[in-house]
Amino acid sequence: NEARKRIIEDLEKLGFLVKKEKIMHTTPVCWRSKNPVEFIFMEEYYLKQLPFLEDLRKIIDQIEFHPPESKHLLLNWVNSVNVDWPVSRRRFYGTEIPIWYCAKCGKPHLPKPGRYYQPWKEKPPFKECECGSSEFIGETRTFDTWMDSSISQLYVLGYKRDDTLFQKAFPCTLRPQGADIVRTWLYYSILRTYQLFSTPAFKHVRISGMGLDEHGEAMHKSKGNIIWPEPYLEKYGADALRLWGASEAKLGSNYRFSRERLEGSFRFLTKLWNVARFISGFPVENSGFKLTPLDKMILSELYQLVKECELGFEEMDFFIPANAIRNFVWNIFADHYVEAVKARAYNMDKTFKDEEQAGAWETLHVCLKTVLKLLAPICPFLTEAIWCRVYSTQSIHLESFPEPREEWVSEYGQFTKQFMDLNSTIWKYKKSRNMALNEKLKTVYAPKVLEPFHADLKAMHKIENLMFGEPSEEEKKKLDKFGEIYLTV
Ligand SMILES: [Zn+2]
Repeated sequence: NEARKRIIEDLEKLGFLVKKEKIMHTTPVCWRSKNPVEFIFMEEYYLKQLPFLEDLRKIIDQIEFHPPESKHLLLNWVNSVNVDWPVSRRRFYGTEIPIWYCAKCGKPHLPKPGRYYQPWKEKPPFKECECGSSEFIGETRTFDTWMDSSISQLYVLGYKRDDTLFQKAFPCTLRPQGADIVRTWLYYSILRTYQLFSTPAFKHVRISGMGLDEHGEAMHKSKGNIIWPEPYLEKYGADALRLWGASEAKLGSNYRFSRERLEGSFRFLTKLWNVARFISGFPVENSGFKLTPLDKMILSELYQLVKECELGFEEMDFFIPANAIRNFVWNIFADHYVEAVKARAYNMDKTFKDEEQAGAWETLHVCLKTVLKLLAPICPFLTEAIWCRVYSTQSIHLESFPEPREEWVSEYGQFTKQFMDLNSTIWKYKKSRNMALNEKLKTVYAPKVLEPFHADLKAMHKIENLMFGEPSEEEKKKLDKFGEIYLTV
């Protein structure tokens, strides 16, 4: 603006000004302050990158990306780089550039490595320049912020500080970061490590999406749409927030904040706590137990769960285990298995043999222990609290990750859906007649495939005559048809 005024003054003075008018035109503005941006040519330090782009593409090919498609974010950037990296900045806050210049001949002088220098206020660590002058001027500029961050992984691995650690740990196993700084943090880290060692900086790169506000907008202080986590952490706890974050979107996708869904995670953890409290009432160590088909059914489901979680964690996509665990614990284990096994676990009227009762205890604990270990990386606090109360004085985070055990697999796993459908139908039937869920039923005809579960089903729904298959036409007249099944009180 100052320049414009002066130019007009000069033109007027010289009589060259033809006319003055206001025009509309596009102009770049600062994204934050919205002030117009003016480009001014200045001399700056650059780090060479253009000659290395071809090699960088090869280096990037050796890194495993999670999710795999996030690699293209980086490659697209590498393909669009058309200038070397300007690394000096005229900003007050930043890492000082450690250079002094000879006041006479202008030659730049670098101090010895090993400590941090502030040339703009320190005495120069040199006696004199080759030209004979002993006067130096300290650099006042700072580095681009990524100059430091791009070697953070080397610093953490002990580079130039702890050779033993560095030999063991380099290259870095994993860089976890957001999609917003692929072009900066990730790219420059790979560039710097390549320039120093000619190797990839990381074995794995995990790129997560961004958390957005309720309307799917990025959160900015200037926009006033920031959702502060503290009140939610206070109300629901860190584990609920972590579980919500993990279950919201597949790795690499953005996700919106939702108080309702965060509360849903909190309710799930409360459910898990209550289920654990119920299970903790039964003996942990069991011998001479016998598993019923119902136990084998839930163990088959548990096997599938462990497999799925293993896959998800290997892909570093917590969305998969978070949702699989939630579905297993809430929809299958708590709602159906635990409800069905209660009668046998308590065995009040000695309907079941001792070994079958112990089978229930054993299965409940195997399921809970396994679920806690699977969930521990996502909800470290709640799982630890339950683990240390029920199973061990040693932390759950020192346990090895659960293996899917082949002996859990059985033919009963294929009937889970029919089993759950039957339960739901019976519960709905009782509800439709304003009956309590623990009230007796006279006769129920269940699907033939569920016959192996008869003892547990009978006890669970308090059924006097539990039959399997289609009733005869004569029988049907005495029964209600509810959903797909025939039954009566
Ligand atoms: Zn000099």
